[in-house]
Amino acid sequence: MNRRQFNKRLVGGAALLATSSLSYAGVKLWPEAGLSNPCLTGLPDTLKNHPLMAQIWEGIDAQQVWDSHVHIVGVGDSDLAGKQERVWFHPNMDSYWHPILKIQKNFYMNGGCVATGRVDDSYVERLVQISREMPAGYKSMLFAFDWYHDEQGRPNKEHSIFHVPNQYVADIAKQHPQHFEWVASIHPYRQDCVDALEKVYALGARAIKWLPSGMGIDPASASCDRFYQKLHDLDLPIISHTGRESAVQGGDQAHGNPLRMRRALDNGVRVLLAHCASDGHDEDLDNNNRSIKSFDLFSRLMDTPEYEKLVFGEISALTLINHAWAIKPVLARQDWQHRLINGSDYPLPGIVPLISTQTLAWRGLLKDEHLLFLQNLRHYNPLMFDFATKRLMQYEGNTFNQSVFETRSFFEKVKA
Ligand SMILES: [Zn+2]
Repeated sequence: MNRRQFNKRLVGGAALLATSSLSYAGVKLWPEAGLSNPCLTGLPDTLKNHPLMAQIWEGIDAQQVWDSHVHIVGVGDSDLAGKQERVWFHPNMDSYWHPILKIQKNFYMNGGCVATGRVDDSYVERLVQISREMPAGYKSMLFAFDWYHDEQGRPNKEHSIFHVPNQYVADIAKQHPQHFEWVASIHPYRQDCVDALEKVYALGARAIKWLPSGMGIDPASASCDRFYQKLHDLDLPIISHTGRESAVQGGDQAHGNPLRMRRALDNGVRVLLAHCASDGHDEDLDNNNRSIKSFDLFSRLMDTPEYEKLVFGEISALTLINHAWAIKPVLARQDWQHRLINGSDYPLPGIVPLISTQTLAWRGLLKDEHLLFLQNLRHYNPLMFDFATKRLMQYEGNTFNQSVFETRSFFEKVKA
């Protein structure tokens, strides 16, 4: 069976499951939207003019809305004519010997609505198309992704799961300045990390993205200090994954321990803890390394008075089935609201089985009358779907404040 046949079977299997779903009063219960993204284009008037559409944008200044967490993916098939480095995916992601990786990759690609043979370009085209449907001024922050590096700071392709070059992402942002900002990725053990940081800063990078487990970064290592010093000087924040990483396998999961970011904080660097560390457990380094919820360690950092102006919680992926339990405890902390930053983790909101609006309703976070609107919206525009879901969610009268979405001033510091 070649790749195309395999993909066909995967999609065929998904379609079969989708037609045998459970539904009640027109609202599908499971899988509520099938398993694969139908990638519809052109928001219909029924959604555009829906009263909930007006409600989610009410009181929001779209000029201030920057989605802090958007992935660029690809396979390196764009026609760059040798001008720059290409996006790269580990071949294991295409191997039948690694079926989980392969299925993961297929879901990622389907979430981003790519076209076979021109994956890189079609991924960006879809992102531009759905960005045009957002109110003027709304922007997505696109992520680069550095190689895995060893302790000597040498890149290691074999250990890397994918690579998205800084220049590649900077160029996409430059081509569509009305829709995109960009976030560079630099491994702090690199010999040239400080020079590289100056370079991406000059290219307009708004932050630095790390995935400590997948990249081989121990944020608590002294090897990061030069890098932290430069980040502090430039006032560039780090967006670092915290808690368990499910989407990108491999590496040392202990590196995602929120407490390991204290070294950056103690160097005066602003840190955005991705997903509020809402998945998995980590060692409590303050208490005999006993295993506790990563989220509790995140909370400890948020509640450390010295870090009040430095540590922030990023709420991307909180709506995912394995993270959603954390929405209530986050909403309950109204005193955190001014330090929460929204991100979509696109293409994840486009990967249909990862989010269940019905389950969010069962948890008491959404109302039944939201479901049809959201379930239709997700097929057309995952960015809007993610935004709408978070704007509509509430628990015991608490919602995410407008400031959680109006994030621009966090990234766009006006230098005195
Ligand atoms: Zn992500």
